[in-house]
Amino acid sequence: MLKVLKFGGSSLADGSQFAKVKAIVESDSSREVVVVSAPGKRSSDDNKITDLLYLVHAHIRYGVAYDNILGMIRDRFGSIRKECGLKTDIESMIDETFVGVDKKTPVDYIVSRGECFSAMLMAEYLGYKFVDAADWLCFEYNGKVNTEKSEKKLRELKNAYEKIVTPGFYGALPNGEIHVFPRGGSDITGALAAAYLDADIYENWTDVSGILMVDPRIVKDPKSIARVTYDELRELSYMGASVLHEDTVFPVRIKDIPVNIRNTNAPEDPGTIIRENFDDELEEETERFITGIAGKRNFSIINIYKSRIGEEKLGLLRQVLEVFARYDIPVEQIPSGVDSFSVVFPSESIRIRKHELMHELSEFEGIDNCALTEGISLIAIVGRQMAYRTGISGKIFRTLGDNRINIRTIEQGADEINIMIGVFDEDFERAIRVLYDSFAK
Ligand code: ASP
Repeated sequence: MLKVLKFGGSSLADGSQFAKVKAIVESDSSREVVVVSAPGKRSSDDNKITDLLYLVHAHIRYGVAYDNILGMIRDRFGSIRKECGLKTDIESMIDETFVGVDKKTPVDYIVSRGECFSAMLMAEYLGYKFVDAADWLCFEYNGKVNTEKSEKKLRELKNAYEKIVTPGFYGALPNGEIHVFPRGGSDITGALAAAYLDADIYENWTDVSGILMVDPRIVKDPKSIARVTYDELRELSYMGASVLHEDTVFPVRIKDIPVNIRNTNAPEDPGTIIRENFDDELEEETERFITGIAGKRNFSIINIYKSRIGEEKLGLLRQVLEVFARYDIPVEQIPSGVDSFSVVFPSESIRIRKHELMHELSEFEGIDNCALTEGISLIAIVGRQMAYRTGISGKIFRTLGDNRINIRTIEQGADEINIMIGVFDEDFERAIRVLYDSFAK
């Protein structure tokens, strides 16, 4: 059994967080590969080390002294070293690193140092080997990762040292120069390491106990999702849920290595497992059948009506959609009735040209009436276990009806993993709350 772990910035913000990481790693001997971010914020008004490093770079570029920022960086790593009782002379290393830095030093090198110093300290603390990401994560000049080369190098290093700590976020170009992923890129490093080493699981340790069933700003202390498929994740994140970006875990997805989102501050919580499907596992059927609920405000509906529309409907629909395409309006849903159909889209997309669009549509020969309704919210009720099960939509509608929430639109695709409803913006939060209460409890 091999587990690859990635710890995010908040899990490494200070000495006490480092201690939690150590306890987690030591509690399971298969946790052999540890990828770390740079220390993040200790509180909401604190700075992330990576942000400070970007600031250092800006100061250097404009020829402004940056001693105080460097001092903050040195102090942060210094106090972690002291709190954890480590010997690595990180303060001198930081000073030496910046002696050689000038206007010509690439930004990627400067900002990558947060991860590098963090990994050095963590390696000593765990008694694992520090393996520099520049020694295995190989980028091409176009910024793409050279999989073959990187995999070979990481495997060699893992075979040689067995238990390793490696920095996230960066790697090296063919000429040895440092290159970084986009912000938050340590997630990608962790996923690559897990994929290259054929890990049994990729544990992504953060500060929440997995992906939550619903936005915690709307529902207080919502339950977290035990298992979610990538398709469900896409539906939820498309509708605004802030979840791990699926692109970042693509390397483990294609190898069907489960991703487990865990909470460093509550390591006993099982967190969320993400997989392509759970077909090979005995799925515990929850009574709730739904995985999560997410939603977005500020949609509009244009309803097009034509009495006894009959065979002309398809042609009219095509013409109307052509207008939408010309206005560059992303169409979200097209619910339809016998003599009418509606088009649902983000209000923002017609903000400037609203009157022009309505005028153009009302001029259409084949239309009797065309009406715009604004202030609509879309809510997605997502769950793979809803498929082929009766009564779920009944429960949704009953719940909303009992709470006197009017449903403006309804949509469900034939894969049945998502039921999307439209309600007025003023009912948005209440609708999510009552749906959560009726399904999650
Ligand atoms: N430290 C980098 C950032 O703040 C990368 C990461 O944490 O994933 O974006």
